[in-house]
Amino acid sequence: MKIWIDAGHGGTDSGAFSGGVAEKDVTLSICLSLEERLIAAGFTVEMTRRTDVYESVLARAAMANDWQADLFLSVHANAAQSAEATGTEVLSYDEDGASGRLALDIAQAISSQLGLRNRGVKVRRDLVVLNSTRMPAVLVETAFLTNAADRGYLTGQPEAFAAAIAAGVFQYLGWEEPEMEKRYETLAQIPAWAQPTVEKLLARGVFADDTQLDLSFDMVRMFVLLDRYGVLQVPPLSATAQAKAAMEEAQAAYEKAKAAWEELQEAQ
Ligand SMILES: [Zn+2]
Repeated sequence: MKIWIDAGHGGTDSGAFSGGVAEKDVTLSICLSLEERLIAAGFTVEMTRRTDVYESVLARAAMANDWQADLFLSVHANAAQSAEATGTEVLSYDEDGASGRLALDIAQAISSQLGLRNRGVKVRRDLVVLNSTRMPAVLVETAFLTNAADRGYLTGQPEAFAAAIAAGVFQYLGWEEPEMEKRYETLAQIPAWAQPTVEKLLARGVFADDTQLDLSFDMVRMFVLLDRYGVLQVPPLSATAQAKAAMEEAQAAYEKAKAAWEELQEAQ
């Protein structure tokens, strides 16, 4: 099962802007969290963007089609003239087909998990990411950036929106939410998205035994987040180990020089 995650807007296109918050930033936060969840649940995931870059809507649909995604999730935040407008709605090309059912499940999951008003499924046939994608596709208008309370949820709890969207996908597919209490003992068991971070920790000797990492899903996720924000401070090799390595190097150099000297003496 291949899922395409499309973080709305990006780069020169900031999307809606309200209360000092750009839509392109909240959509990316939600999507990065959503990516982790879906990969941890065993899905194959690709994304339109993982950084602040611009992609046209035509390119977004084409990339997902070329990759032959099974589902397409576009994540946005809503905006309205009135600051009173609030809640979640999910846009879909149809109401009764696969896209409509997926949209309904995601709208219900967001509404119930975040306690937001459910504005339901809105049929939109004019949107390129919905009318040019060849797989069930939805555009999630998570909440209103123009409403102070909604904006607080969007900026403060992006991972809650990600969890709710993932729950909507699981519901649509009839899947159980994966066991998050699982523990990982070796690098091979670690989800692919977290392996580079754990490799770093292993290389720096943070774990005594690389066959008994004893990491929970939450610990792995925390390490990855710290690494992603550049605040993962791993202790350097201990001073003793460094001194030992330097001594061994010096010893080897001495032996080599001594052998060369002896060879020279014999030759004379
Ligand atoms: Zn948008």
